[in-house]
Order: sequence, then C-alpha cells, then structure tokens
Amino acid sequence: MKRWYAALIAATLAAALGGMLLSFTMESAPQARAELSHVLVLASLTGFVAAVALRPARGKAEAVGAARGAVKDEARAACDFSHVAANAHALQSLSELRDYLIDPSKYARYGARMPKGVLLYGPPGTGKTLLARALAGEAKVPFFALSGSDFVEKYVGVGAGRVRELFKKARKAGKCVIFIDEIDALGKRRDDNASDERDQTLNALLSEMSGFYTGDGVIVVAATNRIDALDPALLRPGRFDRQIEVALPGRAERLSILKLHSENKPLADDVSLEALAAQTVSFSGASLETLLNEAALIAAARNGAQIEKSDLQTAFYKTVAGADRPITATNREKRIIAVHEAGHALASRILAPENKLTRVSILPAGHGAAGYNLCVPEERVMLGKRHIEAQICVLLAGRAAEQAVFGEEELTAGASSDIARATELAASMILELGMDGEPAVSLKALSRACGGITGAQERCRAVLDGLYRKTLHLIEDEREALTALSDALVEAESMEGEAVTALLDGHLSSERPESA
Ligand code: ADP
Ligand code: ZN
Repeated sequence: MKRWYAALIAATLAAALGGMLLSFTMESAPQARAELSHVLVLASLTGFVAAVALRPARGKAEAVGAARGAVKDEARAACDFSHVAANAHALQSLSELRDYLIDPSKYARYGARMPKGVLLYGPPGTGKTLLARALAGEAKVPFFALSGSDFVEKYVGVGAGRVRELFKKARKAGKCVIFIDEIDALGKRRDDNASDERDQTLNALLSEMSGFYTGDGVIVVAATNRIDALDPALLRPGRFDRQIEVALPGRAERLSILKLHSENKPLADDVSLEALAAQTVSFSGASLETLLNEAALIAAARNGAQIEKSDLQTAFYKTVAGADRPITATNREKRIIAVHEAGHALASRILAPENKLTRVSILPAGHGAAGYNLCVPEERVMLGKRHIEAQICVLLAGRAAEQAVFGEEELTAGASSDIARATELAASMILELGMDGEPAVSLKALSRACGGITGAQERCRAVLDGLYRKTLHLIEDEREALTALSDALVEAESMEGEAVTALLDGHLSSERPESA
C-alpha cells in the first residue's frame, strides 16, 4: 500500500474514532449516589484520560503574562533543542529557522523567503511551548510569550491594542521569537459566534504580521490543538504558512522522553524505562514528565534511597485513574461493581487478548470513580473492523455482566457512559467507515452531498443489539470465570493485570470460539 494512502486511512480512522485507541473503562459514582443508592454513573476512562492524564504539566505560566495582558519579555530562555526529546520532524523544521535567526542572509542569498509565522499544532502537552522556547534559546534571541486567551477581552479594541503593544516591544528587541499559545482563542473561524472584539484582535494580528519584513528576524510561533477551528485567513501565505504537526509520541519517542526526564533522578535497578514506555500508550511528553515526577515524590515521601519500580507503578495508576481512595460502597454495591468490572475484563481477555490488562479495581479513584479496568492497547497504526467490534463488546460487557448475574430488573446507571461510547463507535462504523455491509459508502459523506440519511439509526440499533447479544452469550458461557474474578475482586478490591489474566485463564471454558 502506498504510504500516503496508508497515512490517509490511518488519519481518517484516528479522526473517526477519536480516543478509541485507549481501551480503558471506568465507572464512577459521584454525588448521584446520594439519591440512587447503588448507582454507578460511568465515565469512560477514555474521556477521562484525554482530559486529565494527558493534561500537560504547565510549566509555562510565568511566560504567559502574570499580569493579564502584560507582555513579558522572557530573558533569553535557558532552554535549547537538547531539552526536547522526540519530535525529530519539528526540530528539523525549527533548526532551519534557528539558522535563519542567527544569520538571516544565509537564506536570502538563495532568494529563499522565510516564513513569518509558524504554527505548531497537536494535542496538549506534546511540547509545543517547549519547542518555541528552545528555538529562541538556540538562536539566543528574546522570547515573548502570550496566550491567545489573554488577548480576548470584553471591551472592543483592548485585545487589538495588546497585539500592537506586543509587536512594538518585540520590534524594539530586534531579532526575537514571539510565541502565541492557544491561538484558536483569537483566531477562530469567523462564521460562528462572530465577535467584534475578536475580529479586531485577529485583524490587528494579521496586519502586524503583514507589516514586518522577513529580514527583520522576527518569527511568530503560534500553537493550537485545534487547527481545524482556525480562521483560514491565519493560514494564508505570509502568515502562519509553515504548519508543523507535533503529535503524541510513539513508543521509541516515549522512551527518549523518559530517558531525558529521568537524567536527574535516582532510578533503582529494577526500573525498566523500556517497559514504562510500552505501558504509556497515548501519554504526551507532559504526562510522561508528570509521571516521573509523581514517582519521585512518592519515593521521597517514603524516604526511599531510590525511585523503585513500585513507585512508578503507583504513579502510573495515579496519573491515569487518580489516586486510590478507601472503599465506601456497601457490600451489595461492591458486589455489583465487581461483577461489572469482571465483565469488562473477561470480554477484553477473550475478544482482545492482544491488549494487555494492567489493573482491575473496585476502589474509588480520582474524579469519583467507583472502579475501573485499565488496559494498555497494542500499539497499532490502524484499527480494523474486528478491533472496533471487540472494543464495543468490551464496553458493553460491564452491563452484560450485570444483566447476566442480577437480571434485567436490576440494571444500574453504571453503564451509562460505556453504552454511550459503544453507540458512538457503532455510529462511526456505519456512518463513516463503511463497515456495515456497504464497504464503498460513507453515509456521512453521502449525506453531506445529498442530504439526510435514512435508516441510519435503525442500523445502529441493529449493530449494537447484535453485539450486545453476542457479549451476553459470551458472559453466560463463561459464568464460572466471571464469578471467580468478581469474588476475587470483592476480596482483593484491586488486582494487577497479570493476576487477573491468570485467574481468568484458569477458569475459561476450553471451547472459546475466539480465543487467540
Ligand atoms: P504544549 O505547549 O504542547 O501543551 P508544553 O511544551 O507546555 O506542551 O509541554 C509541557 C512539558 O512537558 C514540557 O515543559 C516538558 O517538560 C514536557 N515535554 C513535552 N514534550 C516533550 C518532549 N518532546 N521532550 C521533552 N519534554 C517534553
Ligand atoms: Zn463499565
């Protein structure tokens, strides 16, 4: 398959499936418990991970104008490319800009025009700010940083004034790097929610950018995690015409980031950064840094001589799911949560054995979680129909287990986010991925071209119904394994993945249809 074609498919799938590469499920029982005694209100850990575990450790607050709007001149940033691991592609592109900042004539001799603006786009915490700062540090020029949200004010004209002030200061400095984080805050597509203030601010930015001559040695670097939402005017030639993707690190990249951030940390011999890199699928550079720091804090709190594997493991669970809290559920609730979690684990073991179960817990964790399954997915570029269907079944298995054990009358609200997530996946299969008997049709594209889709909801229902029945059968066939695991969970409250896998494998019936 041609590379671009593979990349296109991968990109489409990734877009269609969002965070689905993470197969975590998590139940949460927040305030709702007060009214509904044994309700598990679910938050899929997928969403939770995106919002919390992957939240960057913001090390840049000081740069973003302590006093709102005050442009802060960062004294030559004590940071260079050696502070950035991974991101080879971005570094390559930025090193050209560094050469240009150091000697603008180098490229001028060839008649090459340097971009005035560079847009770094990608998920939070992937090192966009770090890269911009490192560019300034490498070229030994001042670094001016502001966040797009600092420009957006209630009073028309205030933001525009700030933009002009920023550029005036920067020009006075001579060569420099201007960094605008969250540019989407001021550069959103203008058609939706038009705002005079934002328009004026954006216009001010565009006209300042057209106003300087590339030979001045001023480079504007902007960052966003929503390139799709940007006003196209920003992306035109002479503006942010160089766009560099800063993606989540792959396994080898995670390893190099972990190595970089553990240089100053005393790691025990039992720590394997390779294993940690394998386990941290979909972590950003910032979450990896947070993870190591968290482990260091844990080691320091227990006055350990070194940071041990167990410290990293505790830090890992804390980063992904939040810290464990003591259980407060009644015995009956505990049993329901255990059955629900055991259902997820069982389905995952049978239908997606390539994913590695790391932990199953019925302990309350961060954000009101009442229990969770943590599963490190196999790292792959593409997802097939089989993977997506398996993922749907794994999501539905919590509810199926509840139904199999306690009966339909006793279903709880605990599966709410599991079934919402499963429904979204089924809709993607049908609407976008051509995985429902019409391999050549994207119903979504069809509807864009020719209007409404008829029958899509019914087909979604049929797919979900079919997969739910399949999951329920599987659970019923494997009742012995389910009971063994849920009993063990009630007892232990939290189990490492290896113990769960061994226990399940000891009780699964031999004639499993899909065991791999
Ligand atoms: P973004 O601007 O993309 O949200 P940041 O640049 O603020 O991300 O990253 C936050 C922190 O995460 C950095 O200060 C650094 O400690 C760490 N980090 C992120 N990506 C990398 C990387 N590629 N190499 C080394 N550290 C990184
Ligand atoms: Zn669940």
